[in-house]
Amino acid sequence: MKIQAINGFKDILPEAVGRWQSIEQRARDIFERFGFQEIRMPILEKTELFVRSIGEATDVVEKEMYTFADKGITMRPEATASIMRAFIEHGLHVQQPVQRLYTIGPMFRHERPQKGRLRQFHQLDAEIIGAAEPRVDAELIAMGRMLLDELGLTVSLELNSLGCPVCRPPFKERLVAFLEQRREVLCDDCQRRTRTNPLRVLDCKKPSCRAVVQEAPSLLETLCPDCDRHFLEVRTALEELRIPFRINRFMVRGLDYYTRTTFEFLTTDLGAQAAVGAGGRYDGLIEQLGGPPLSGIGFAMGLERLVLLMEQQANNSLAAPSTDLFVAALGTALLAPCGQLVHALRQQGAKAAIDYSGRSLKAQLKQAGRSNARFTLIVGEDEWARGEAILRDMRTQEQRTFTLNGSPEEQARRLLALVGTAATSG
Ligand code: ATP
Ligand code: MG
Repeated sequence: MKIQAINGFKDILPEAVGRWQSIEQRARDIFERFGFQEIRMPILEKTELFVRSIGEATDVVEKEMYTFADKGITMRPEATASIMRAFIEHGLHVQQPVQRLYTIGPMFRHERPQKGRLRQFHQLDAEIIGAAEPRVDAELIAMGRMLLDELGLTVSLELNSLGCPVCRPPFKERLVAFLEQRREVLCDDCQRRTRTNPLRVLDCKKPSCRAVVQEAPSLLETLCPDCDRHFLEVRTALEELRIPFRINRFMVRGLDYYTRTTFEFLTTDLGAQAAVGAGGRYDGLIEQLGGPPLSGIGFAMGLERLVLLMEQQANNSLAAPSTDLFVAALGTALLAPCGQLVHALRQQGAKAAIDYSGRSLKAQLKQAGRSNARFTLIVGEDEWARGEAILRDMRTQEQRTFTLNGSPEEQARRLLALVGTAATSG
């Protein structure tokens, strides 16, 4: 019986990995331009960390976590909680009061697998800790925007404010009263949510619930003066940076720790998986986890969804992996010197390949073609006896004689000088 990967857990094959790497590299590059430093945390954390941060009555904690019940530990479903745990544990703020941290890695949620939704998925996660100014919100959003732009992706931005412990509780009460009156029209989940997590009803996808919440009271209209000013300043700062956005008062996010600004980067190209990335402020979270009273804001983008979008929006052809030089040794006696030459080429930074099978010239040229070689050095026994080989430009089919004198290192150097000029001129 063949053993296969677990449902919802996926291999990333070599043909796709180039795309992953280019997204990751671009993200690192941009994050560093904005002054972020990388942090890497363990995949397992105490279950308590996620229950206390994400919230007991959220979908993630209620039904999506991979928890080892007998050990009280959980595979991280997201990165923010782990970063805050590490931040507090190591007192990172003592050295540098404002921390800009990013991480890239796998997250785990027990969800129904479908396109753009997996059980092991990967996030790019960026957090700014210790800065409460609205311009910081705009700067972080601008960073996400810049990444999506530089990847050539068309993605829209929605913005909302979830208020704070001053204005949200009275709003919640009004919302619950409103929902209770329409209880019988709500879906089963939302009837339950009305009691456990009423804000979640606002973004239920069922048409009957959507119709109900259109009439619901709006938190944006009842924000306290501080939250109201904050939200206004975030919008102004985004406009200053010429970042278009749309306000969506029904956006609530699935994690309890959010306060004030929340945002989502959305696409219509991935079916039900509309969110490419999402984030927001979490001003009470660090204190709630036993740390100093510092504010924070962050976002996470799903790498799978970015990869799918890059494939779909297809305005970015990724160069196929290539070999600079393929050495075709025609005869077993030539394997030793050709092997030395290839080794020297690699030491000098070239992508060099060799076939040890001693197959025919035709077979080896075919192999060179498959590995996308720019040049092939053909070393036949007769030529070798004369101290020569043939250098073939795989694009133009032109051939020239290459003299094989000197050490493998010297040969490699001359070869690369030749190949380098030919490659840039053609
Ligand atoms: P969704 O509404 O799609 O379930 P979410 O609100 O649960 O997303 P977040 O917790 O905010 O997502 O995570 C941020 C990003 O991580 C999402 O925008 C998405 O790109 C990605 N993501 C979340 N869950 C998954 C998953 N199961 N598979 C793949 N990517 C995911
Ligand atoms: Mg989700």
